[in-house]
Amino acid sequence: MAGQGGSKLSPLPVLAGLLVVMGGVGLLRDRESSEAMPGCAPEADAACDTNPAPSGEPGQRSAPVLDAAEACQDVGYLCAELATTDRIRLRRWRDFSGTVVVHVPRPDFEDRGEAARLQEAAARGLRAWNGQPFAVLTDLRGEREAHFQVRWSPRLTGTQIGLARTQWSSVAGLSVVAIELSTRNPLNPERLNDARQVQLTAAHEMGHALGLPHSDSERDVMYPTNTASSMSAQDYRTMEALYELEDGTELVP
Ligand SMILES: [Zn+2]
Repeated sequence: MAGQGGSKLSPLPVLAGLLVVMGGVGLLRDRESSEAMPGCAPEADAACDTNPAPSGEPGQRSAPVLDAAEACQDVGYLCAELATTDRIRLRRWRDFSGTVVVHVPRPDFEDRGEAARLQEAAARGLRAWNGQPFAVLTDLRGEREAHFQVRWSPRLTGTQIGLARTQWSSVAGLSVVAIELSTRNPLNPERLNDARQVQLTAAHEMGHALGLPHSDSERDVMYPTNTASSMSAQDYRTMEALYELEDGTELVP
């Protein structure tokens, strides 16, 4: 789906171990990519923290390294990327319970009626994860304090139609900068994106925002291209499995 995955360095200076993970959904195939700050390999992020939490402070702990042969049973596509890499690290929200609040504004640069339709479609997509594992509340008017927001633009880079910008550190776990969605077809900017496509793209990016990797099956909403027609049981099972394992867990073959 997405023609190009991109990655960009985070400007945040405090934790040199921060990673920026971006996942995109578009019309062509895409790969999610992650990139460490200069000098910090992802597998060495704990050692790269320039300002680590004082020892003994909650949140600082070393995550386990698990053998995929055992840990990857009945976990959906959580380990699918081991087909192309020799080690994966699980990155998810840490020590969180309660409701994830996402501000979903209207793309006001579009026609008013269409803008409202796309806004509602995006909100539906985000709420597809409601209760999986956290309650998800979409705030359409910006009245509540949100954990992150949806940012609209007519188009994103290349053929991408969605992007999740997230950060992860060994101290704080995963956090979300924003979910970006486009309103227009990247191959034909005269055309608005279909509401159903926007809904499924929002669901895909929300999956990344909560820590999911890409699926290797076209039937799942987390497949890199927009081939799924709805959320699948595998999508939900993978999210469940992710939150059964400790944040930062490394899986090796
Ligand atoms: Zn993706």
